[in-house]
Amino acid sequence: ATTVPVTVLGLGPMGQAMGHVLLAAGHPVTVWNRTSARADTLVSAGATPAPDPGSAVASSELVILSLTDYQAMYDILGDHTDALRGRLLVNLSSDTPERTREAADWAGQHGARFLTGGVMTPPPTIGTEGAYVYYSGPRPDFEAHSAALSVIGEPRYVGEDPGLAQLLYQAQLDVFLTGLAGLLHATALAGSGGVSAAEFVPQALETLTGIPAMIEDGDALGTALDARSHPGDLGTTTMMGATADHIAATSAAAGLDLVLPDAVASLYRRAIRAGHGADNWTSLIEVIRAGVL
Ligand code: NDP
Repeated sequence: ATTVPVTVLGLGPMGQAMGHVLLAAGHPVTVWNRTSARADTLVSAGATPAPDPGSAVASSELVILSLTDYQAMYDILGDHTDALRGRLLVNLSSDTPERTREAADWAGQHGARFLTGGVMTPPPTIGTEGAYVYYSGPRPDFEAHSAALSVIGEPRYVGEDPGLAQLLYQAQLDVFLTGLAGLLHATALAGSGGVSAAEFVPQALETLTGIPAMIEDGDALGTALDARSHPGDLGTTTMMGATADHIAATSAAAGLDLVLPDAVASLYRRAIRAGHGADNWTSLIEVIRAGVL
């Protein structure tokens, strides 16, 4: 049961990585890609090339899609919906939760079951320890195929709502992209004083990797955020907000782009205005949750 046939549609870097680890694990793998040459290395490794998307889908009950977005799935399968009946589509492409919910309905209308996934690590990690993938959709379908899915990376099932996997994918990338943008802004700020990126980046990475120690206990932080409890101690909103203002002012004086520091300073200012000055910096989440300027 661990080596069921698998079809992979979409052979970008991610789809190719998945195809290779599935083959290596002994699964019969059928592949199709719009640009057919991208199937070549997988075919050399033992995958079967399908002549068209319909026959690719017909080859396996388990069909994995790895595409740029959900529109690509409609572009590929829109003319082959007859082949979908009885299949389990596992779409590991990026899109909004709303688009993934619509797609689950669309698949259901064609007699297919649907799991949504978000691959959380880059192609070279696929099939190695540390790779993990969020899944949402019908639990029985997830459980029936979790052995094959675990070949790609640790499968983390998050719930029945098909939109949840992509919501969590985006929440994780929110942390990631915001952190990376902050790293670059900080490097430019240091650079305005003549400190080279080569000199500064390793120091900035110390700060980034020091965040978990500063937070100390992620479970406790999560519980406090759920409880909307923000007791002030070492990092009050007023203290952190003053620093955020200084960063914005220094960035302005240096002639740098201000979007990022202004956004952060604005969150602090509004939290203070809402009465959270003496609370912990975590009170910013109340401004974010409130959602309106
Ligand atoms: P891409 O996002 O570049 O995916 C490319 C694949 O989508 C190719 O097979 C491409 O076909 C196909 N495609 C795009 N549009 C269409 C269309 N309209 N019709 C038919 N086929 C189409 O590369 P990746 O492999 O890197 O990513 C795949 C998914 O995995 C994405 O959703 C991405 O967000 C996600 N992901 C990627 C990570 C990464 O680091 N690469 C990490 C985590 C998730 P063709 O070859 O013909 O262009």
